[in-house]
Amino acid sequence: MVILNSANKVSSQTMKIIFSALLVLVLFIVSCKSTEPGKPNLQNNPSPKNAPAIDLYHGSYTKTFDLIHTKLEIKPNWQNKELYGQASIQLKPHFYSSDDLVLNARGMEIHSVALEKDGLEMQTTFRYENNLLRIKLDKFYSKDDTVEVIINYTSRPDLLPEGGSAAIRKDKGLYFINADGSDPDLPTQLWTQGETESNSVWFPTIEDPGQRMTQEIYLTVDSGFKTLSNGLLLTSIANPDGSRTDYWKQTLPLAPYLTMIAVGDFAIVRDEWRGKEVSYYLDKNYEKYANMIFGLTPEMMDFFSEKLDVDFPWEKYSQVVVHHFVSGAMENNTAVVHGTNMQQDPRDFKDYNYEDIISHELFHHWFGNLVTCESWANVTLNEGFASYGEYLWREYKYGRENADVFGQLDQSIYLKASKKTDAPLIRFRYEEREDVYDAISYQKGARVLHMLRKLIGDDAFFTSISNYLKAYKFSTAEFHQLRIEFEKVCGQDLNWFFDQWYLKSGKPSLDISTNWDMGQNSLIISIKQIQDLKKNPVYRLPMDVDFYFGSKTVRKTIVLDSLKQDFIFNFEEEPKLVNVDAEKSLLLEKKSENKKTTNWIFQYQHAPLYQDRYEAVEALSKTYKVKSPESEIILQALNDKNPSIRLLALRNVKELALNAAEQVKPILVHLAQNDSDSFVRAMAYEALGEYYSFKEFSDFFSKAIPDYSYYVEATVFEIISSKDYELAITLSDTLEPDSSATVLSVLASFYSEHPDLEKFDFYKRAVRKSSGWSQYRIINYFTTWLKSQKVALIREGSEILLSLGLKTNSKHIRNNCTASLIRLQNELTERIKSIKKSQTQKIINKADGESVSIDEVDLIQLESLSKELESKIKLLEKKT
Ligand SMILES: [Zn+2]
Repeated sequence: MVILNSANKVSSQTMKIIFSALLVLVLFIVSCKSTEPGKPNLQNNPSPKNAPAIDLYHGSYTKTFDLIHTKLEIKPNWQNKELYGQASIQLKPHFYSSDDLVLNARGMEIHSVALEKDGLEMQTTFRYENNLLRIKLDKFYSKDDTVEVIINYTSRPDLLPEGGSAAIRKDKGLYFINADGSDPDLPTQLWTQGETESNSVWFPTIEDPGQRMTQEIYLTVDSGFKTLSNGLLLTSIANPDGSRTDYWKQTLPLAPYLTMIAVGDFAIVRDEWRGKEVSYYLDKNYEKYANMIFGLTPEMMDFFSEKLDVDFPWEKYSQVVVHHFVSGAMENNTAVVHGTNMQQDPRDFKDYNYEDIISHELFHHWFGNLVTCESWANVTLNEGFASYGEYLWREYKYGRENADVFGQLDQSIYLKASKKTDAPLIRFRYEEREDVYDAISYQKGARVLHMLRKLIGDDAFFTSISNYLKAYKFSTAEFHQLRIEFEKVCGQDLNWFFDQWYLKSGKPSLDISTNWDMGQNSLIISIKQIQDLKKNPVYRLPMDVDFYFGSKTVRKTIVLDSLKQDFIFNFEEEPKLVNVDAEKSLLLEKKSENKKTTNWIFQYQHAPLYQDRYEAVEALSKTYKVKSPESEIILQALNDKNPSIRLLALRNVKELALNAAEQVKPILVHLAQNDSDSFVRAMAYEALGEYYSFKEFSDFFSKAIPDYSYYVEATVFEIISSKDYELAITLSDTLEPDSSATVLSVLASFYSEHPDLEKFDFYKRAVRKSSGWSQYRIINYFTTWLKSQKVALIREGSEILLSLGLKTNSKHIRNNCTASLIRLQNELTERIKSIKKSQTQKIINKADGESVSIDEVDLIQLESLSKELESKIKLLEKKT
């Protein structure tokens, strides 16, 4: 799964500029704990009365029965938002004989339960309470027996209490979208989200990642719909009542949380990989962009199959885009679900795209789907690997330089998140299952794998993970089993590595000083571990050190394993640069080094990695002055091959821009017009706007609208609108037809400051066309604008906010709609007060003999709208 925050692969500096749906991710990380009770105890062990404190330990679930096969015959009822189903489930006792079968079935109506006996259905007694279906079997079954139960049920996801978490906004398993078709902007769809334990809302099963089953789904829908599920579509048969039954079969066993269905009027674009179907399901108006969006998938399948020496094992590979999805994306086996942020037009796509999510979900088909974490405590075996898959794909496709930018960002996401909580990677203690879906399991998990790879070498690393996949395929594993595969291959004990990185929380910080002793011709590297030892362990950190002598570089390996250590090397001359952690692989929170300016300059010019140059520019830009050697590097960095370094230089260009304007202006103009990266272009425009007179560049800015890049357009418009109202008004006409959320958001902001502009229709469209964070912001701007409008418009606006708040799948959007209605109501209260005050005034004046006309009509209108808003607010609050 891609969680809502982890998909955000932009630096904190560029973050503010991505208005797209991705930013919803940061927004939605606000915790909303599940209200669902914890995992039901299938063993039926009641907890002792008066137990002292609750132990939050969550190990793997006890297996009483093993799932073997699940056959579902299901049919949605759109009107009631229900699903009718018959589930035939084959199981066997795991080891001990049993006559007591317990299944998870959440919020269902169970109509009947039967046992299959020699082709006949034998009705049996059952008890259904607390979301558990307890079936009394006709006898004790042994581990060599198979039992088949047939359950008729109705699934009612919309009657469940609302749960959810930061990673997965809802947990009702089955989602009817625009079921009655009343929203003309929204397709009618049905889709599921199983992870972690929500599939039991729509079919009885055993919610445990350690279970595995083969599967058949007969899905009956109106003939206008397309369906998607796991495995292959074997038949599609028209029924006499005009409906159609699609038969999907998954012959290789999968964990129950990976089961899915999706129903909708999708366009389907087909491709293939080594004779297997690869397909993309999306909205029809994006059909023409399907290959632009998903087209690298077969090449990714090739790359991962070869890199892992395990071919993509499953029957086919489909990806589907659904509306109002509740997470970032989900790796349902052979049928990945994405949110609509994936649907971009070419202009949007060029600014920023979601290829990382595609590689992430595909890599899960080895790590997560082929080998599954045996408990949620081990979820980094799914998510740390899938996140590292994103790095591996970039490294292969675009080179290490590109991948290292991504790695650096992963590291910063983890470090930022760890300020709040910094649990161990393997966590047996947590409050809610979804708590483990965080920057620790994902980003830290990926960086720790990267460190391990650098420690033992590429050959050993990839051989080990390949062996791990082969040893545990179609089964589960926990992290010790991964460790053992690494140890087998490289012949070394790695327990210390797994102990400090997987079982302990924290990260090291280093203070490094390098001194040359001329008398002894020796170089002393002193390293101190400066992390807070109350929260972090003392680390053992093997690392490479590069010593640069003119054209020659010497690499040595050192092992730091105490709090303070000196490493002494004898050389004939003083190195020009000592580059500690030369592979830049250590996951460090802080690092301080006593490097001189000449060392940093040398590092920028000669060290090979992206991080080498990044660190150098960062260090040199701290206090540089014009015409200094440092400023020469900032100038060079403006033209660095890597856009992230060009952005870093732009962020630090002020001193040069102000004091060497004639030299820097043409560079900024060139970057603004020609850079291949939209963010670099936009930041160059921002620098021109910030450091030079607007008059000098106003023509230049005007010419940037329209631009191919939405992001550049939006940035330039923001600059213009803060300086020249008339020009902004003229240009806004050019921008308004754009449907990009980035552009709509800056227009919405501009108009909110000018309530005299008639922009109701614009806002109506902008709220509808946007989603996530953009929508959240647009709602705020709309409300600000509405506050200054007449009663009739406020009423119409409040209808839009109410209907959005009722429809949305996002608690945050709904809460924002409520907050906006409250803001409008407060505005009305102010107006009422002010009229009443002026009435009093006028009555007083009347005594002086003046004539008055009290605007009773206004007052009545305001008070009645205020009451309407009150009831709308209550409606939304009830929904929350
Ligand atoms: Zn994932």
